[in-house]
Amino acid sequence: MRTLEDYREIVGDDVLSRLYKRVRRLYGARVLHINSTFFGGGVAEMLTSLVPLMNSVGLDADWRILHGTPDFFNVTKKFHNALQGGAINLTEMKKRLYVQTNEEFASYCKIDHDVVVVHDPQPLPMVRFYKKAQPWVWRCHVDLSDPNSDLWSYLKGFILRYDVMVVSSETYLKEDLPVEQRVFFPAIDPLSTKNEPLSEKTIHKYMKKFNIPLDKPIIAQISRFDKWKDPEGVLEIFRRVREEVDCRLVLCGNMAEDDPEGWSVLERVRRRAGELAANSDVILVVNPAQNNIFVNSLQRTATVIIQKSIREGFGLTVTEAMWKGTPVVASRVGGIPLQIEDGESGYLVDPHDNDAFVEKIVRLLKDPEEREHISRNAVERVRQRFLITRLLGDHLDLYLYLLES
Ligand code: UDP
Repeated sequence: MRTLEDYREIVGDDVLSRLYKRVRRLYGARVLHINSTFFGGGVAEMLTSLVPLMNSVGLDADWRILHGTPDFFNVTKKFHNALQGGAINLTEMKKRLYVQTNEEFASYCKIDHDVVVVHDPQPLPMVRFYKKAQPWVWRCHVDLSDPNSDLWSYLKGFILRYDVMVVSSETYLKEDLPVEQRVFFPAIDPLSTKNEPLSEKTIHKYMKKFNIPLDKPIIAQISRFDKWKDPEGVLEIFRRVREEVDCRLVLCGNMAEDDPEGWSVLERVRRRAGELAANSDVILVVNPAQNNIFVNSLQRTATVIIQKSIREGFGLTVTEAMWKGTPVVASRVGGIPLQIEDGESGYLVDPHDNDAFVEKIVRLLKDPEEREHISRNAVERVRQRFLITRLLGDHLDLYLYLLES
């Protein structure tokens, strides 16, 4: 089990000392996190690191997972899309299923903690089914900048019962919500299998296992096969880069079995890749097994990581690549500009400006000094702002505020 001390070499003594000082006033505080999945997705990954770390510093942290049927998750997936701006037919049946699932879960989920933190929309209505004897926080990981107005108005009814809402970017703060709001940037765990240092031997083993030759420089995008991640746009950029520099493209993506949209995007990508003159230099990796070590290896092997999103909540793939010192060329959308300072710790490009993507990628492929410069700054940028220790500090500050005010 990892403890805060394990992070000492990475973040330094000052960071640890400040965290220990803050936690002193929180010894034994009983904090409960609730989300709706143990596996898959950024929230689960973050809680997997954060909750044990909280316990290791002396809190009494707990994690519960809301149980729901596939119907329930279909409804909450529609909510998720509509919160990010999509349309929704908000029927009474959907609302009933949403609230009843929460009520059922509440009937066997006892809560007597000092602080409750509810993640994302799935367990949001739970608050309604308790005698609220402690502060409740709604930690929303979704892009709230332009939610569907019907849904927002409906969900607000539940959010109003919370003491604080926490979002991932300033642009997601809501003026029309009379609830205190804070911003916590997401973070990665430098010691998780996705991000820990790997030996050359392990990296080579994984590249071989996934049939990725190492005889040419690699550019890679690691993202769900989703139209908002624009994998077809990546192919077009690769076609043009490949005319100037001999290199390979790896498109790696995972996908839920039940995501029909994802499969059709993948089909189009396959077809388009097959049409390219350099098609033998395009490698698609779909739903990789032993995903974390492979992704870690690929992020370390690539010469350049591309993230050509049209929309992006935060973009953890960008943080992960930056931490590994691999230069990133990414769209200036969502949370990406919070991470990359253009020309210093990576490159930011307008999502539709293919010329600029090609130019920056070619430049990085040809210029090792530029890569070195970007790489150094990128690692430091993540060390200062986007590691799990900073996120732990944000949580501790919030609990202190809630329990002492
Ligand atoms: N990811 C993965 N395997 C893949 C593709 C993505 O493990 O084949 C991970 C990636 O490393 C990152 C997360 O999925 O941790 C994606 O998070 P991000 O914020 O970039 O995008 P989202 O999918 O949440 O829109």
